[in-house]
Amino acid sequence: MKAKLKLHWQIAVAMLLGLGAGILFQTLQDGEPHGWIYAGISAMGTVFIRLLRMVIVPLIFTSIVTGVSGVGDSRRLGRLGTKTFAYYLVSSLLAIVIGILLANTIRPGVGARIGAGHDFDPAGLNTPSSPVQILIDMIPLNPIKAAAEGQILGIIFFAIFLGVALNRLGGESRRFLEGFFRAGFEVMMQITDMVIRLAPLGVFGLVTQAVAGAGLELFRTLGLYMITILTGFSIHMFAVLPTLLFFTTRLDPRRHFRAMAPAMMTAFSTCSSNATLPVTMNNVEKRAGVSNTVSSFVLPLGATVNMNGTALYECAGVIFISQVLGMQLTLAHQFTVVLTALLSAVGCAGIPSAGLVVIFIVTQAIGFQDAQVGVIIGAMLAVDRPLDMFRTMVNIFSDSVGAVVVAHSEGEKGLYPEEPQ
Ligand code: ASP
Repeated sequence: MKAKLKLHWQIAVAMLLGLGAGILFQTLQDGEPHGWIYAGISAMGTVFIRLLRMVIVPLIFTSIVTGVSGVGDSRRLGRLGTKTFAYYLVSSLLAIVIGILLANTIRPGVGARIGAGHDFDPAGLNTPSSPVQILIDMIPLNPIKAAAEGQILGIIFFAIFLGVALNRLGGESRRFLEGFFRAGFEVMMQITDMVIRLAPLGVFGLVTQAVAGAGLELFRTLGLYMITILTGFSIHMFAVLPTLLFFTTRLDPRRHFRAMAPAMMTAFSTCSSNATLPVTMNNVEKRAGVSNTVSSFVLPLGATVNMNGTALYECAGVIFISQVLGMQLTLAHQFTVVLTALLSAVGCAGIPSAGLVVIFIVTQAIGFQDAQVGVIIGAMLAVDRPLDMFRTMVNIFSDSVGAVVVAHSEGEKGLYPEEPQ
């Protein structure tokens, strides 16, 4: 059994099999997949996502407390924070610029006819809070409730606070608590490791489900829109971020792709940065060789705050809407789009389709009142799944590049140890 296929290849094969099975269900059962075989395959995907979600809260909590308390002095903490936010800002702005440029040159919305029948009622969805509210909401009224409800930002806030406070404690209490949280973190990583081994099965189930349930008709109408956005994602992920990685670290970006392959494929099939977080953390630490201190600083926050794919999508999406409506966006409008896209990507939850929901923040900011907006967004929702897959992959890829860039700038050695498992 020596020649066992590496994990990322196992997942890749699972994706292909899922694609094949999905097409089979889609054609044999007329786009209405059913039956016990289908139910069984879908259940594999659902179980995988549940296992990942099960580990998120205790994993990020123990990881952040351990990471932050391990930083030592508060000056270093400030430095890490500054670097992390600088990276989030730069990479998001680059993504936004790509989105704006592409949507303005390809002009996917000009001439696209989107009829009724895809009406979309925003009231049925969780209306996103305003950007300021997002910051206020970060402070949990009750940390236990935040944990129970899986409010990631609230948990992060409390964990960072706890880590800082732990740092100021002396003697026995500190040693005891540090040991306790470190042990908790280690056992959570162990659980993550075990769950990740199931990734090929889970990914097979999720991809089958996504492909089997896809309505293919609309893909034709919105083809150019999808191509614009996918081109933007590719430029950002294959050209911009690798260049950024190379120029800041002089490391070979191909090694980064190899290290992050399992997380990227998990993001692709779960459409959720949050659900992928345990795999991202595992890959960044074990395969890219980043310390727990840096990874627990950059990644959990990045899963919610740093969403390059979503930011790019918000911009290109709103410009697309304006083109369908036949409205010309002024420079001032475009500037508002940039700013609100940035903020709404920050406020966007790392869950499926969240990016499409927060697009309302942007359309409202530039004063789109037209009833047609709901219809267009409804049509966009119908083809959102494949875009969300790529968006989420770009989102977590950028977080992971950030972790390596910050780790390198902190003088960490031994990045990308050979032979990931
Ligand atoms: N699904 C994305 C994520 O979890 C968010 C989005 O819909 O843009 O990263």
